[in-house]
Amino acid sequence: PQLANQIAAGEVVERPASVVKELVENCLDAGATRIDIDIEKGGAKLIRIQDNGSGIEQNDLPLALSRHATSKLHTLDDLEAILSFGFRGEALASISSVSRLTLTSRTSAQSEAWMAYAEGSEMAVKLQPAAHPVGTTIEVADLFFNTPARRRFLKSDKTEFAHIDEWLKRMALVRPDIQLTLKHNGKQVRHYRPANTDNQFLQRLTQVTGRSFAEQAVKIECQHDNLSLSGYLQSPQQRELQDTHYFYVNGRLVRDRLVNHAVRQAFADLDEIEQPGYVLMLQLDPHQVDVNVHPAKHEVRFHQARYVHDFILQALTSALEQSAT
Ligand code: ADP
Ligand code: MG
Repeated sequence: PQLANQIAAGEVVERPASVVKELVENCLDAGATRIDIDIEKGGAKLIRIQDNGSGIEQNDLPLALSRHATSKLHTLDDLEAILSFGFRGEALASISSVSRLTLTSRTSAQSEAWMAYAEGSEMAVKLQPAAHPVGTTIEVADLFFNTPARRRFLKSDKTEFAHIDEWLKRMALVRPDIQLTLKHNGKQVRHYRPANTDNQFLQRLTQVTGRSFAEQAVKIECQHDNLSLSGYLQSPQQRELQDTHYFYVNGRLVRDRLVNHAVRQAFADLDEIEQPGYVLMLQLDPHQVDVNVHPAKHEVRFHQARYVHDFILQALTSALEQSAT
């Protein structure tokens, strides 16, 4: 099983940032409102993530580390309409096959916490009592220690940390309700505080992208049939290039050329190289989109791509027209 897990790890675990992504998505699936991330040496030495979510029952701890064990997927229909982030039950098994992973957790029904770690070539899971508040901490130490070829592919600590920071920014935008901290080598680098007012998203956008984008951007709010688009688009007056290109589908950050194309079309008179900044969130019927295209789940496939594209273009064009008057 360890070899199968290591092969699966090749798909899911590219670098420390992909570990952080999988672990933080699990925290969100568990209903956490606060997530603390500690990184040492770009994540190659240690990735520690603590949440205040539901926790994992003692009996379920070994299961959480085994392959294809997921508590989230129950029927085939679930597979089509995936709402939670995790659904393959592969992440923890894969990560633990290429690192030294410990899992410490406590549910609100338990008076004490338990720690689980996989040991030996059979990956037998050992349990021992531990001290921990309700929630879960996962520690991933020495990533790729047993796959030296993969370890050599890691870039400098600074670069690997930058990937983590960038991913976290993108996640922070879509979940302004979650409190997030990020430390590198013991020093706090980010603290995204949860905003508790109407304009939660705008506040988080300001924390993440800085003032200039958030203050001058054009607000997008548009709905048609079962599609809705919200967020912000760089204003035509704000001509400097922005590296802010964030697109979310049903709360999931995705890479998709469709949105870049629609944005460029909405600004009719762009130079070749310009790509206006945006932070856009699309909501649609989950049956209208496949999130299953890539194991790391960065890509999606719309069943009616043309229709979605034209809806986005229409929403942006009318918001730009309104902002001009
Ligand atoms: P998946 O997320 O696809 O279900 P994972 O391998 O990422 O698979 O996680 C396996 C299982 O471990 C999850 O289904 C969940 O039950 C449990 N789990 C993992 N992380 C957490 C967490 N932070 N809080 C609560 N449960 C967790
Ligand atoms: Mg998961």
